[in-house]
Amino acid sequence: MLIGGFQKNTFIDFPGEIASLVFTKGCNFRCPYCHNPDLVYLNEKELSLLSEQISTSKKPSSLIKESISPPKEPSSLIKEHILPSKELSSLIKENISPTKEPSSLINGHLSPSILNSSPLLSFFQFSGISSATETMPGNLSVGELDVFNFIEKRKGMIDGVAITGGEPTLQKDLESFCYKMKSMGLKVKLDTNGSRPWVLKRLLCRDLLDFVAMDVKSDLSGYRQIAGDDFDTGLIRESIRLIISKAPDHEFRTTCVKPFVTEDSMKEILSLIDGASRYILQHCSDNVVVLEPDFFRHGGRLCSEDEMNIFRKMAEHRGFHCTIR
Ligand code: SF4
Repeated sequence: MLIGGFQKNTFIDFPGEIASLVFTKGCNFRCPYCHNPDLVYLNEKELSLLSEQISTSKKPSSLIKESISPPKEPSSLIKEHILPSKELSSLIKENISPTKEPSSLINGHLSPSILNSSPLLSFFQFSGISSATETMPGNLSVGELDVFNFIEKRKGMIDGVAITGGEPTLQKDLESFCYKMKSMGLKVKLDTNGSRPWVLKRLLCRDLLDFVAMDVKSDLSGYRQIAGDDFDTGLIRESIRLIISKAPDHEFRTTCVKPFVTEDSMKEILSLIDGASRYILQHCSDNVVVLEPDFFRHGGRLCSEDEMNIFRKMAEHRGFHCTIR
C-alpha cells in the first residue's frame, strides 16, 4: 500500500470504536475543495504502482497526467530531503514511543491537515511515501511495517483500523492489508468515494470490512466536474446499493459545497441513498489548504448553517437519520 499518513488514535472516524487511521496515497477524483491534496497527487513512481487500476476506473487521461508531479507539490519537495530508510525508521520508533510523545498527540484527534503539519507525525507520513519503492521481506512495504508494528504494540488498546485516503480502493494490496488487520483481531472501516464497486464487492464478500463510509459528492451529473466527462456514474449507484445491502454497518456523507450540493441536487442524492441507515452532512472549510484554491476565490461556495439545516430537514423528511458534522 502507498501509505501517505498514519494517525495513532481516532475516536470519531470509526463510529463506536477507538481506531488507528491509515491514509493511503492517490485518488482518481479531483474534488476542488479536497482538504488532502498531498494524498491526491502522485509522483511518477507512485503512479506506476496504481496505473493499471486507475486506467480501469475510466479516469480521463488528462486528469491522470495532471496528477504527475505538480511542480510545487510540497511532498515532492520534501522527498528530496528524505532520510535513508534505516535512519528514518529509528527516528520513527523513537518518535512514536508513548513515553516520549506529548499526550496531546496521542490522545487528541488530529485532522489530516494537522497531521500534515505535525513534524512528529510527518516522519511517519514520509516513511509511507518511501514505501513506494522499498519492500521488506514478506512483501510488506516499509510504511506498512511501521503501521503493523505500531498496531501490534497497541493490540488491546484499539478496536480497529480506519482506512481512508486518497481513495483506498486504488491500492493493489488493500485486500491483503485488510486481511492482516482482521487476522490481528481488529475491525476494519473503509472510506471510499464509491468509484470502484468491484473492489468493495470483493472485500465485502470476504468479510473483510466491518464498516464502510462512502462520500456522495453530488447528484450524478455533478460527478463530471469531479471525475471527468467519461466517468461512469453507474459505478456510484452500484457502490451505494452494494454498501446498503452488504456492509455490516455503513454511513454516507456529503460535503456541502456549491454547486455540487444545492436543494435540487440534494433531492437526487437522497433518492440515490434511499435505504441508508445513516447520513452525514459535512461543513466545508475554505481556510485550509485545498486542491484548487481558486475554487473559493470568489466566495459563494460554502453552505450556510441555514442551508445545512434545510438539507438536514429534507433528509429527515425522507426518513434518514441525519446529522450535521
Ligand atoms: S475523493 Fe476525497 S481524496 Fe479524492 S479528491 Fe475528492 S476529497 Fe480528495
